[in-house]
Amino acid sequence: GLKFRKLNAVTKVCSEYTTSPHTIRVFQWNILSQALGTMNDNFVRCPDEALDWNHRKYLIVEEIVEYCPDVICLQEVDHFNFLKRVLATQGYTGMFFPKPDSPCFYIDGNNGPDGCAVFFRSNKFELVRAETRILEIWKIQSNQVALLMILKVKETGEEICVVTTHLKARHSALLATLRNEQGKDLLEFVQRYAEDRPLIIAGDFNAEPSEPIYSTMLNSNQSLASAYAETNCDNSIPSATREPPYTTWKIRDEGEICHTIDYVFYSRNNLDIDSVLEFPTETDIGADRVPSLIYPSDHFSLVCDFSIRTNSCDTF
Ligand code: NDP
Ligand code: CA
Repeated sequence: GLKFRKLNAVTKVCSEYTTSPHTIRVFQWNILSQALGTMNDNFVRCPDEALDWNHRKYLIVEEIVEYCPDVICLQEVDHFNFLKRVLATQGYTGMFFPKPDSPCFYIDGNNGPDGCAVFFRSNKFELVRAETRILEIWKIQSNQVALLMILKVKETGEEICVVTTHLKARHSALLATLRNEQGKDLLEFVQRYAEDRPLIIAGDFNAEPSEPIYSTMLNSNQSLASAYAETNCDNSIPSATREPPYTTWKIRDEGEICHTIDYVFYSRNNLDIDSVLEFPTETDIGADRVPSLIYPSDHFSLVCDFSIRTNSCDTF
């Protein structure tokens, strides 16, 4: 689907999109690690061919490049060198930060650890600084990471801060607490480098909007908002109830899982969200859900068009 739209407004087509120095298109996606997807997840309704790397790799690249993003935030990357080589041909430069004890290591025939990656359009941005973080829970390092980049828009000299993360997975009250602690550590890390730059924090938070981490993100002193929630019209209801119904939809042996756990947070004082890519419908997705022969991950991609607000209200 090439449609971009505000959840109930303007439609834009990718081929009509030209990159401007005052706008940023952000692409956020948990691509599904090849090792985990084939050996760990047990997607019982997904045909084996769909998980074959030689099939999936083209679909993954296609999904990324068809939206012509300016910045690409990815999780569960265990083929970084492949993506780096392919995306370089499309004008992107990127960095990878692996999880310290990736579950991929324990899988036969793995391709190395999985981790987070950020790519940026190299004709638009210059890399000013890159920082990595092994997220801490109560001052102890966890197995989850974050990757941060300060990027300078070449044409205007404006700098932005882009961060990606993949928080601890699975469902329990304790794990929700641990994710919240990881989120607090993430925000401290971000505050150290972002300063007052326009800020984008995109990732797989493994948490529904009702979890503490969601409020932690929105109530931080970075004054963050969630891009998909903001494009959903009715601002009188809380952000959490304006999130889309799903960002992942899969069937494992224990049953069907359809919920929202991926987000693009942004600083509302210097960025405006103009439009977002809508998700495939239930009919598009099909009865066996994803991954499938036509869609290579169990998570959908989030694509957001931001404009950088230039503050004309100078103080004296
Ligand atoms: P997480 O709980 O964060 O999960 C790791 C991955 O598993 C995520 O990418 C997650 O995907 C995926 N996942 C989530 N739910 C399921 C599910 N129901 N079935 C299959 N996969 C799922 O793990 P950690 O990163 O904290 O690492 C796990 C630890 O376990 C490691 O530190 C390692 O030492 C250990 N380990 C040991 C093994 C061994 O054989 N000894 C084997 C595996 C791990 P998503 O985010 O998309 O939900
Ligand atoms: Ca996964």
